[in-house]
Amino acid sequence: MRVLMIFVDGLGLGPPDPERNPLCRARLSVLESLLDAAPTGDGSRGSPGLPASTVAADPGLGVPGLPQSATGQTTILTGVNGARLMGRHLQAYPGPALRRVLAEHSLFARVLGQGGRAAFLNMFTPEYREALDGALVATGAGGRVRAGAFTLAALIAGVRLRGPEELQVGQAVYHDVTGEAFCGRGPGHRAVTPEEAGRRAAEVASDHDFTLFEYFLTDLAGHRQDMSQAVDVLERLDRFLAGALDRLDLGRSLLIVCSDHGNVEDLAVRTHTLNPVPVALVTARSELRGRLAREIRDLTHLAPAVLAALNTR
Ligand SMILES: [Zn+2]
Repeated sequence: MRVLMIFVDGLGLGPPDPERNPLCRARLSVLESLLDAAPTGDGSRGSPGLPASTVAADPGLGVPGLPQSATGQTTILTGVNGARLMGRHLQAYPGPALRRVLAEHSLFARVLGQGGRAAFLNMFTPEYREALDGALVATGAGGRVRAGAFTLAALIAGVRLRGPEELQVGQAVYHDVTGEAFCGRGPGHRAVTPEEAGRRAAEVASDHDFTLFEYFLTDLAGHRQDMSQAVDVLERLDRFLAGALDRLDLGRSLLIVCSDHGNVEDLAVRTHTLNPVPVALVTARSELRGRLAREIRDLTHLAPAVLAALNTR
């Protein structure tokens, strides 16, 4: 089996209140079917129309306080409880301790270690790639590199960070999905529809054992408490997922849509939330899907689920 993980930063399951929850206002087909019209966070549900099961997972990791990205994402990608390791939820950029966990246990490192192929689908600008390389070399095991957990894990494992060259030939996806935000910066670069970006994601995934895409505009819209922006980024994500599902061979692939903490589902607060997060599992292999849905309770269960799927013939 192959796994495509679409990671959505700051997407929780909140009350269906259209005054604060943009998921109730956005026109969503795939996401609505995955998350249910009125998510209640009461465990695993089947999904009509898609071979999917969605679990409401606990992002709290047994540590008080609001869940944050550095610890949550490290946990998702490694199965090691990063918040418990640090004794608190850590924002944004992993420091040396979490970097060591990522180096040893990340899905990128594990897949490559098993002789498999792994892809980090996001496109990075050449300037940012250079800055990251320099920073990693300069800080060694010591200082802090301004990169998120997924980027660090890819860099450390030796998974290539994709650039404009790959974007141009449909082998990468920009963080805004369509590439509009990159237009004018690359020679001859054109934006694509979210559906086309999704089909490209599925094509890269068909060529790798494990493929990851990181979408963080949801978290930004949540912090800005901006309803129209939140609706826009959710609809863009929904069309991206529709494109991916249009092209994925669900008999041989598992699509996982997951998040590190809530945020965009409650625009009444500027911060992250304590709401459960969705883990949507989409595959025609119903036995595998059911087993994984039963096993996933919190963020530590995602990496083992990916490995189990990869080892399913
Ligand atoms: Zn955030």
